[in-house]
Amino acid sequence: MPGLESLAVPFSRDPLDRLAAARDAWPRETLRMREGRAPELPDAVAWPRNRAEVRRLLDHAAAEGLAVVPYGAGSGVCGGASGRAGSLVIDTKRLDRILAVDGARGVAHVEAGVLGQHLEDALEARGFRTGHSPSSILCSTVGGWVAARSAGQFSSRYGVFDDMLLAAHVETPAGPLDAGAWTPAGADDLLPAIAGSEGALGVVTDVLVRIAPVPEARWLRGYAFPDLDVAWEAMRRLMQAELWPSVLRLYDPVDTRVGGRTGGRPREDADGARVSGLQGRLLAGARRLGLRALPLPLAIPGLVNRLAAGLAHEVLLVVGFEGPRRLVEAVLPAARRILETDGLDLGAEPGEHWMAHRHDVSYKLAPIFANGAWADTMEVAAPWSRLAELDRAVREALGRHAVVMAHYSHAYPEGCSIYFSFAGAGDEARYDAAWAAGLEAVRAAGGTVTHHHGVGVHKSRAAARELGPALRAWWAIKNRLDPDGLMNPGRPFPPEADGSAAAPAAPARNPPAAGPVLAVDERSLLATVAPDASPEALAAALARRGLELRVPPPGPLVPWLAGLRRGELARWEVPLFGLRVRFPDGAVAEVGVAPRSAAGPDLRQALLRRALAGGATVEHLVLPVRRVDPAPVLVRVPGADPALADQVRPARREGDRWTLVGPAAAALAEALGEPGGGGGAP
Ligand SMILES: Cc1cc2nc3c(=O)[nH]c(=O)nc-3n(C[C@H](O)[C@H](O)[C@H](O)COP(=O)(O)OP(=O)(O)OC[C@H]3O[C@@H](n4cnc5c(N)ncnc54)[C@H](O)[C@@H]3O)c2cc1C
Repeated sequence: MPGLESLAVPFSRDPLDRLAAARDAWPRETLRMREGRAPELPDAVAWPRNRAEVRRLLDHAAAEGLAVVPYGAGSGVCGGASGRAGSLVIDTKRLDRILAVDGARGVAHVEAGVLGQHLEDALEARGFRTGHSPSSILCSTVGGWVAARSAGQFSSRYGVFDDMLLAAHVETPAGPLDAGAWTPAGADDLLPAIAGSEGALGVVTDVLVRIAPVPEARWLRGYAFPDLDVAWEAMRRLMQAELWPSVLRLYDPVDTRVGGRTGGRPREDADGARVSGLQGRLLAGARRLGLRALPLPLAIPGLVNRLAAGLAHEVLLVVGFEGPRRLVEAVLPAARRILETDGLDLGAEPGEHWMAHRHDVSYKLAPIFANGAWADTMEVAAPWSRLAELDRAVREALGRHAVVMAHYSHAYPEGCSIYFSFAGAGDEARYDAAWAAGLEAVRAAGGTVTHHHGVGVHKSRAAARELGPALRAWWAIKNRLDPDGLMNPGRPFPPEADGSAAAPAAPARNPPAAGPVLAVDERSLLATVAPDASPEALAAALARRGLELRVPPPGPLVPWLAGLRRGELARWEVPLFGLRVRFPDGAVAEVGVAPRSAAGPDLRQALLRRALAGGATVEHLVLPVRRVDPAPVLVRVPGADPALADQVRPARREGDRWTLVGPAAAALAEALGEPGGGGGAP
């Protein structure tokens, strides 16, 4: 690679450095390494220290016709960051400065290569945190969180990383780009396309993120429920009551049982060893089933899954609340009423144990591979109305090839994610067969193929199929920012998946009806509405069903949604769930099948803009709604600042006059309001 020396950017052609950047943590690569098949090596690895050095590297790559692979910490599990022959890896780890922390505005400006735990430690020293806590926080970067649309363990309170991301600077082959809050006046905001672009548009160099105060109080608890359906119902009710727990983590019966998680039973296996991590749980499970060696149960997964399913139905839900003490205390009675309708309080220990060990789980897979087997995880999501079917279908599909267990850990008012852990015996072909069956089951059940691990090369075809003709919006952005296709080729979508096929229109999920409200998914609190409905007509039609929009539009729906910028809304305010558009050639795109999908970038605004420009017709919008609260509380909160609103999540806010809804509204108003300062129903 000539000329790299002249750029004054640290770089290496050492084979070891190139090997380190040749793969991420995709288990299929581990399987191949075990079989003695080393990955292709990139030509060189460079470590730029600022935007200007990234720029020089990109210009150099363009001049030399080299592919560019952005590389964060390589913790991705889908083959996204993998330097190949003929590529230059841009490793971001020296973009490691925290440039500013502004507690008053609740934001921090950080470089993309900062490691997650370093960021949280630096913020905590100043009394703040992002609230983003993926299991990989020790080994992933801020840029990787942006690029793969990461989600952390406290997402039900703080949101996924998308919800925290306010602005980004990206060096693209076509030039520098500022997105989100940094978008130049008059330009389209491309932040929704940057998040989830997986290195295929440019190198994210630095970002502006929301931060929150370190919580003053934290409450953690375990609850036992008789079965999954009842526990899902408690999770749904908690989220739809807008109580915003910080942790909501449900283990399926197998995971609950082999982890020894309920009833205060010790977390030890039959030999008295501590049980932790998938491997520990699988080994413990195998022993409980009387099988001494790991490969044997993995070789007969169908039987093991059936036996395990027959063992028990009881499930454990770990629940947490955190924030200012008076707010946590105000919310807890209402939360406990919901939880204790069907749940048995197991005390603080299950929650405290989870908290103390929450990062252990994922790092113990190597012995499974060393034992001649493999293990992986699949994180999918769906609205509440489709969750049970998604769970059943994927379990059945994966269960023919692997031993499967699951937990449910990212819940929203509209739906929830399912995190399957599975392990099987055999080679790459068996691994591929398990994934193919699992992904097909997700598609058939109407879920998204990824909630937070992103796409990489692993799920690129499945994600492309999920998005269909919506990919036209992706390629329009890609061709503008990376016209020669230098950036991370094949990620997150294969070049042949260009969305051009004018496939016959798929039947609408919700059959058309007349009126501004076309259909309502009552379980998921999602309303399918006509795009040209006026805010007044829509509000009246929803009110007749006892519903209101979570985020009321100030004017016509489509222009409002197309122009919204991150930061104009609070992090939990999701104004748009899904949409269906028809292109002039008859192709139809339906986007938004599940909450917070990470199947590539968020193309919804790009599609709406295309429709406004006459390049497509919006057939319907799917908007989150809430049940009209019969007793909302209007309260005046003295000195109300955005950071406090961030903690409380009022349904509406006009200066210091907040409307609180849900079962904790009155208690919250009492905890917050000025004595005699305007409490009571509006
Ligand atoms: C043990 C373990 C636990 C995990 N737990 C979680 C979890 O709880 N939640 C979760 O969301 N994920 C989890 N993951 C997956 C992974 O950590 C996330 O996808 C993370 O966001 C990747 O960050 P990274 O810095 O390692 O990115 P990498 O793996 O280096 O890269 C991921 C993708 O982003 C691109 N990229 C990276 N940096 C940039 C940049 N600056 N500009 C442009 N593109 C860039 C790469 O090209 C690649 O396509 C886990 C992974 C492991 C191994």
